[in-house]
Amino acid sequence: MRSVSTILILLATSVCFGQKPDFKVLAFYSKDVESDHGDFAKKLRSFMNELSDERKFTFDVTTDWTNLNDTLLKNYQVVVWVNDFPHTDAQRKSFQKFMDNGGGWIGFHVAGYNDKDTNWPWFVDFMGGAVFYTNNWPPLPARLLIEDQDHPVTQNVPSVLSAPTNEWYQWKPSPRENKNVKVLVTLDPINYPIGIKDIITAGDTPVVWTNTKYNMVYINMGHGEFVMDDQFQNTLVADALLWVGKSKSPKPIIAIEGTGLPEMISVKGGTFMMGDDNGDKDEKPARKVTVADFRIAKTETTIGQWRTFCLATNRRMPEAPWFQQSEQHPIVNVSWDHAVAYAKWLSQQTGKNYRLPTEAEWEFAARGGVKSKGYPYSGGRNADSVAWLAHKSEGTMAVAQKLPNELGLYDMTGNVWEWCSDWYDDTKRFYTTRGGAWDIGLKNNRVTYRNPLGPTSRNHNKGFRVACD
Ligand code: ZN
Repeated sequence: MRSVSTILILLATSVCFGQKPDFKVLAFYSKDVESDHGDFAKKLRSFMNELSDERKFTFDVTTDWTNLNDTLLKNYQVVVWVNDFPHTDAQRKSFQKFMDNGGGWIGFHVAGYNDKDTNWPWFVDFMGGAVFYTNNWPPLPARLLIEDQDHPVTQNVPSVLSAPTNEWYQWKPSPRENKNVKVLVTLDPINYPIGIKDIITAGDTPVVWTNTKYNMVYINMGHGEFVMDDQFQNTLVADALLWVGKSKSPKPIIAIEGTGLPEMISVKGGTFMMGDDNGDKDEKPARKVTVADFRIAKTETTIGQWRTFCLATNRRMPEAPWFQQSEQHPIVNVSWDHAVAYAKWLSQQTGKNYRLPTEAEWEFAARGGVKSKGYPYSGGRNADSVAWLAHKSEGTMAVAQKLPNELGLYDMTGNVWEWCSDWYDDTKRFYTTRGGAWDIGLKNNRVTYRNPLGPTSRNHNKGFRVACD
């Protein structure tokens, strides 16, 4: 028999008649809250409505927290707190019972808030001992680090996330100090200081974690209308819900057309002398390095290829530079984080392991691999025959117009700097870009030249090409 309070629930979604849902979600939110928290609730709701159709669960929403009672919760496997938490003893007791009996929970942002006035010790323990300490203001985007790439909640996102604008909470004590807590995502210290009016300057700031004593995930995102704007962050949110809901329905694979995929060249591994004893300090000493077989894209990633990614993942294209470009020009104004996200997406679509090349792989390939003729530029002694360089071009040029190198790779020298996967040095503040660019002189276009760049930097002469195992 349905209780009276059930009628107050908006049945926002429905699985087709006759089809049994994998699990049922009841989401609670409040209307009388900070407007940014209300905006998030709206966005989350439409995201979940779409997801529930695709992934066979029901997503009911209510603003009446008295629905947090034993009778009603019996009908649900997962409870979501979108932008608030229960304030009465009765609601809290029912929730506690639900969780003690193995129920699932996802809490966003302020749902996990607690301080000395909350008066709910059980909840503090449930949150892994995390007590709200401070936050940044105004809300800002941030770079996040995934701590466990194999966890079901984070396995489908890149190792770094460019998270949209949010108000980030810091906790004292940090939940990481609790042995039952598994931290999944953390604010990268590279963000510090973050904020203007309220500034987080240092410290450990976990943003997604689970208390392994319960079937729960806390997600700190949830402030403002932009939170649901990033494809990978949304994947994390979806995977968290599917994990606590113990979803059984498989993920649909999106087909990607042939033209959207980069053409890959097989590179036979080998041993070579990496670096240059006559080069700059950071190229020395020349040393023996061995690389295994791998594959690398024939050209720099093009605008057309990048556009396929943006269309499939609802991303915005990066801002266009001042010079003219076609779909065959290399994509520019993409950060290391973006390039890695693209490779991860290609991997998801194809089931292969796309990634950025390591510096050693890049240099080996640029030198022509085992077929190397030892040229200073990739594919030749005369730079102009193989590369677009300074004073000869006004902006980037369409890929693969100059001569290829010994392996059939184009534009390894010139056109755009190419991101590699490795840190530039032990400080781990910069990644390395290689190969020089259209606005760079001869000396800095040599195959051994190394250029450090911060992971979020973007520029009209920086692009990349992917590698693959
Ligand atoms: Zn907030």
